[in-house]
Amino acid sequence: MESGLEEVLLESQHAQEGCGPINLVGLRDSKSLRQQVFEQVRANGQVSRAMIARTLNVSPGSVTSITAELIAEGYLREVEGAAREAGRGRPPVALQVVPEVKRVIGIKISDERHTAVLTDFAGQVVASAALDIPTTKKPVATILDELEELVSRLMTTAGLPFSAVSGISVGISGVVDHSCGVVTWSPLIVETEVAMEQAIADRFNCPAHLENDANMLTLAELWFGAGRSRKDFAVVTVEHGVGMGMVINNQLYRGTRGMGMELGHIKVQLDGALCRCGQRGCLEAYLADYALAREASTALGISRNNPQSLPVMLETLYEKAKSGNRGARTIFQRAGRYLAVGLSNIINLFDPELIILSGERMRFDYLYAAEVLAETHSLTLNQARPRSKIEIQTWDDLVWARGAAALALSELTNRVFGETKLPA
Ligand SMILES: [Zn+2]
Repeated sequence: MESGLEEVLLESQHAQEGCGPINLVGLRDSKSLRQQVFEQVRANGQVSRAMIARTLNVSPGSVTSITAELIAEGYLREVEGAAREAGRGRPPVALQVVPEVKRVIGIKISDERHTAVLTDFAGQVVASAALDIPTTKKPVATILDELEELVSRLMTTAGLPFSAVSGISVGISGVVDHSCGVVTWSPLIVETEVAMEQAIADRFNCPAHLENDANMLTLAELWFGAGRSRKDFAVVTVEHGVGMGMVINNQLYRGTRGMGMELGHIKVQLDGALCRCGQRGCLEAYLADYALAREASTALGISRNNPQSLPVMLETLYEKAKSGNRGARTIFQRAGRYLAVGLSNIINLFDPELIILSGERMRFDYLYAAEVLAETHSLTLNQARPRSKIEIQTWDDLVWARGAAALALSELTNRVFGETKLPA
C-alpha cells in the first residue's frame, strides 16, 4: 500500500496550487464566460491569459477584456508568472484569485464533535475550529446554539468579524434534500422534516446550504483531492455507516429525492443481519462500526458499556488483529469481503474511472488489503478490460468541513457570477 499512499499525498500537495474541478468542459453551457474564466484561474492557482484562452477555446481579446473587468472588481490580480526564460526580457504575467475578497464557512455536524473551517475565495483554509458536544440526539434549536458557539470560536481563531463571511454550508448525516434544504431524517436530530437550511440562514443572517455528509466528502475529493482531475468517480466511506457519493461528468449526482447512493443499504443477504434502518441484510449491517462492534462483543467478549466507547472498542479490536489474534482478524477480513461485494457492485453498475476509499476509518488497513481488492475485481465483469482504479485517501477529520466549504464556495461563485443556482 505504501506506494499508493504516496501517490495520494502527491495529489493532495498538487491540489494546494488551485482548487475545484479541473476538467470543466461538461459544465460550460450553463456558466457565463466570466465565471468560466474565474474558475480556470482558481482551478490552476496561477495561470496566464494565453493559457485561459487556449483552455476555453476563446479569443485572447475576450479573455483580456474579461480579466480586466475581474481585476477592476477585485476578484483577480496579476502576479509574476513562475516560468521565466533566462535573460529574455520581462517574466510572463499570470493571474490569481484575490483570496481575501470573499470567505465562506464549511461545517460538519457530528455526534461527538462539530468541526468547521473558514476558507478564502481561492479555496485555502484560513482557520479551523472544533466543538466537543454531548452525544445525545438533540432538538434542532440546541444544534443551532452549538453551531453559534463553534462559529464564534472559528472567527476568534481567524481574528475576523462574522461580517467577513459570505456563506455557510453545513453537512449532516441522514436523509438530506439539498434542493429544498430539508433534513428529512437524521440520527442526530430529534425532529423529522426540518427546514434546516432556512433555520441556519436565519440564525446567522447569511446564505446557507445543506448537504448530506457522504456528498460533502465527495465534494472534498472533487475540489481538493484525488477526484479533481477525474470526470467520473465514486467515493466510498466506512464509518458509523457506509456512505457513498458519485461524481458523473464533473458534477455531484444527488438523485431525485436526496435518497440516492445509499450503498450501506443495498442488500447483500436475504433475511440477513439487522441494520440500523430496520431492514435486514444491508451491507452496513456487516461493515459499519456498529457491525464490527457487535461481532467483537459476541466473538471476543470485548464489552461495550456506553456509546462513547465505540471508537475505543474498535481500536482494541484493531490492535488485537494486528498482534495476531485470529478472531479479531477474522472479523476484519469478513468485513473486507463484504466491502468487496459493495465495491464490485459499484463497478458493475457505473464503471467509474476511480473509486476513492475515504474517511477516517481507512486507517483500518484490513479493509483495503490486497485480498479485498483482488476479491473486488474477481466479482466484477469485463475482467479482460482495464480495471477501475481504487485509491485510498486518508484525511484528518477536517475533510468533511472542507467539503462543506467547497459547496459554499461553489454556491457563492454562482451567486457572484451568475443568477441561476447551478449544481455544485
Ligand atoms: Zn439498512
